[in-house]
Amino acid sequence: MSNYICKSAGIVGAGIQGICTGLQLLKKNIPVTIFDKNDPAKMASYGNAGHFSPYAVLQFNRPDILVNIPKMLFSSYGPLALKWNYVPKMIPWMWKFVKNCNTKSMLHTAKYMHQILDLSLDAYDDAFKEIDTTGLVERKGIIYAWTNENLKSRNLEIKVREDLGVKQTLISKKEISDLEPNLQPIFDSGVLFDYAWHARDPYAISKKLFDLYIKKGGKFIKANVTHINQINSDETLIKTEDKDYIFEKTVIACGAFSKKLTDQLGENIPLDTERGYHVHFKDMDHLLSRAVINLDRGFGLTPMNQGMRAVGTVELGGLNNPPSKKRIDYIVRCAKELLPQLDKHEDEWLGFRPTLPDFLPILGPSQKNKNIIYAFGHHHLGWTLGAITGKIVSGIVAEEKTNLDLSPYNSSRFN
Ligand SMILES: Cc1cc2nc3c(=O)[nH]c(=O)nc-3n(C[C@H](O)[C@H](O)[C@H](O)COP(=O)(O)OP(=O)(O)OC[C@H]3O[C@@H](n4cnc5c(N)ncnc54)[C@H](O)[C@@H]3O)c2cc1C
Repeated sequence: MSNYICKSAGIVGAGIQGICTGLQLLKKNIPVTIFDKNDPAKMASYGNAGHFSPYAVLQFNRPDILVNIPKMLFSSYGPLALKWNYVPKMIPWMWKFVKNCNTKSMLHTAKYMHQILDLSLDAYDDAFKEIDTTGLVERKGIIYAWTNENLKSRNLEIKVREDLGVKQTLISKKEISDLEPNLQPIFDSGVLFDYAWHARDPYAISKKLFDLYIKKGGKFIKANVTHINQINSDETLIKTEDKDYIFEKTVIACGAFSKKLTDQLGENIPLDTERGYHVHFKDMDHLLSRAVINLDRGFGLTPMNQGMRAVGTVELGGLNNPPSKKRIDYIVRCAKELLPQLDKHEDEWLGFRPTLPDFLPILGPSQKNKNIIYAFGHHHLGWTLGAITGKIVSGIVAEEKTNLDLSPYNSSRFN
C-alpha cells in the first residue's frame, strides 16, 4: 500500500472492464464516475460466449495460423472472414500481426496471458461474493473438441499449455460422447478443462455487478465522451457532448472503441476489432451440460438462459460495416452440424472484440499523460479477464505496488 490517495477517478466505458474497475476503486474509497454512451454492458460484454477460460493462454499470433490463413479466407465455410472494403484500413494492424506470428512472440503472449488468466477465477470468486449468481454461473468445465484435420495446431496448443502448467485433461471421442451425449460424434478427440465455468447470461452478471457499483455509491453518466485530456499534474478532463468533467485520474475502458480516444492523446496504438456473432436457439439449452468449442470451425455452443447460444467466428471488418448474413449462416450451420435437433434461431447479434496485434491487452498509464490509464484490448478473453483487470487497473490508479510484471501490458511496446 502507498500513502498516496487518489481524490477522484472517471472511467470511460461501462463494459465488464469498466464496471469491475469501478467496483475495485470504490473498495479503495476513491470516488468514481463511469461514462458510457450506451446503457451499461450492452456491447461485447453483452453477447459473448460466456466462457470463463483461465486456460486459454495461446492466442492467434502463432506461426501455424499464419500458414492456415489463406486456406481459411478462401473457404466459404471457414472460421475467418474479411470485409474486403476494410482491408486497406486494416493493413497496419495486419502487418504488425504478421510480425507477431512467430514462436518467440507466441510464447511471450502465452506467458503473460497466463500470468493474468491464472488469477481470473479467484478475482471473480471475490466479486461474486457480493452478488447473487444463482442460475447465472455454471461450474461444469468447458470442452474443446476437434477432428484430426489440424492435429499439428492442436498438439502445439496442448504442448504450450502443458509447458506453462495449465491443467487440461485429454479426452477421447467416446469420452466426449459420454460427457455430452447429444453431440453428433464428429470429433476425434478433445480437452476438458474441468475447472472452467460458463456464464448462463453474461449481461445479467454484468448488470448485477453494475447495480452493486451504484449501490456502493458509484456514479454513472450516460454520455458520449468526445475528448480526454490531462490538463495538469493532478487533473484530467473528460469532455462529453454536453459538458466537461474533471477527475484526478481517468481510465479508458472503451473496448474496441478505445482507439478514437488514444489517437487524440497522440499515441498511435494499433487497436482494431475481430468481429464475432451469436444467435440463440430458444429452449434448446438442455442439449448440452457445458460449453463446447469446435476448434476446426472456430465457433462454440454455450447453454444459456436465452437458449443455446451459438457463437464465434472472426470477421475482420472494423466497427462500421453492417453485420454479415453469411457469418450468421455459418454459425447456424456449424451449430446444426453438432446438434441437428436445433431448428429456428433468433437474436442475431454482432459484437466487437478489442484486439491488438500481439494479443495482449493494454493495462497501464498512457505514455504522454500519466494520469490517464488504459484498460482495453482483451480480445477473445475480456469476459474471463474482467474481474482481474478491475483489480490490476484499480491498483495502477491507486499507485499500489504489485508482484505482477505489468510491463508487457504497457502501451510503450507499440512506440
Ligand atoms: C462473439 C464474441 C464472443 C466472445 N466470447 C468470449 C468468451 O467466451 N470469454 C471471454 O473471456 N471473452 C469473450 N469475448 C470477448 C469479450 O466479450 C470482450 O473482450 C469484453 O467483453 C470486452 O470488454 P470491455 O469492457 O473492454 O468492452 P465492451 O464490453 O465493448 O465495453 C466498452 C464500453 O465502452 C463504451 N464506449 C465506447 N466508446 C465510448 C465513448 N466514446 N464514450 C462513452 N462510452 C464509450 C461502449 O458503449 C461500451 O459499453 C467474446 C467476444 C465476442 C464478440
